Amino acid sequence: MTLTPEQALEQAALAGIHRLRIPTPFAVGRVNCYLLEDRPLTLVDTGPNSGKALDELQSQLGERGHSIDDLELVIITHQHIDHLGLVEIVAEHSGAEVAAIGVAAQRLANFSEDAELEDRFAVELMLRNGIPEEVARALQSVSRSFRGWGSRAMVTRPLKDGQALVFGDRTLTALHRPGHSPSDTVFWDEERRILIAADHLIAHISSNPLITRPLDGSERRVQALVTYIESMRKTREMPAEIVLSGHGEPITDHVALIDDRLAQHERRKEKIYRLIAERSRSGYELAQALWGNVAVTQAFLTLSEVIGHADLLVNEGRVREADDGTVIRYETTG
Ligand SMILES: [Zn+2]
Repeated sequence: MTLTPEQALEQAALAGIHRLRIPTPFAVGRVNCYLLEDRPLTLVDTGPNSGKALDELQSQLGERGHSIDDLELVIITHQHIDHLGLVEIVAEHSGAEVAAIGVAAQRLANFSEDAELEDRFAVELMLRNGIPEEVARALQSVSRSFRGWGSRAMVTRPLKDGQALVFGDRTLTALHRPGHSPSDTVFWDEERRILIAADHLIAHISSNPLITRPLDGSERRVQALVTYIESMRKTREMPAEIVLSGHGEPITDHVALIDDRLAQHERRKEKIYRLIAERSRSGYELAQALWGNVAVTQAFLTLSEVIGHADLLVNEGRVREADDGTVIRYETTG
């Protein structure tokens, strides 16, 4: 029998996992952090770097009889600022250890430099895919203005994929599941069949496989959606009963949700193929054909979607990239 989201939260709470809903200034709304009442006392994600988020974190911990100073371990699920902006403050106040997937440790430590490189990478990608320069520059300044909600994170416990984190009452296995971001890591309690998945899976929104510089520091573009689909297929095979997400309500039927998402990507891929078959188009033209003006206001997001699906078509040998040296256009191979 499938649990309701409310029952799932109750069951998680009985297992000592409490959802803390921390406000963010972003369109996504509140972020879910999770308090693990175990030894060590652990916080999974912190919320963004703002006084309001800090106040709420303090008061929601207080409702459970704890304070920030009591925290002994902070786990970071991925590199996005709505999840980790308070980590430096929390770690400094509490002396807590900071755990995250080891391959992301350097990126997390160099937050400011890294954010600048990431923005430049995004601008370059947008220009190469036909997005007008003024749109790309505008988005770059929006991204800069958000940077204050992030912070660097000094990882003191770098985790390997598959590594067990042993607590007094449970063992969590860290599993690297890149796609939504290159550092996405989920935490699996096999005994209780609870998966802390952060943004790898979200019930009410499809997690965007955002194009991001790879963790090795190179500037090559990885196939974010291809990677994300591989990761989702791995999660699909897990016998999870409760999946706790980074936003919104718990997921109690992850197989159905993943099947739904995979079908959605398949449909979108075919739609993009039909548009390319009509005539060759740039990523920006494809995004405009699909989403109109949203392709301008959310240019990077929609471009990530288009390129992700075009990658699938390229890998299938149905589409190729034609590069005139300025802009990349997709055309069919047939
Ligand atoms: Zn995220």
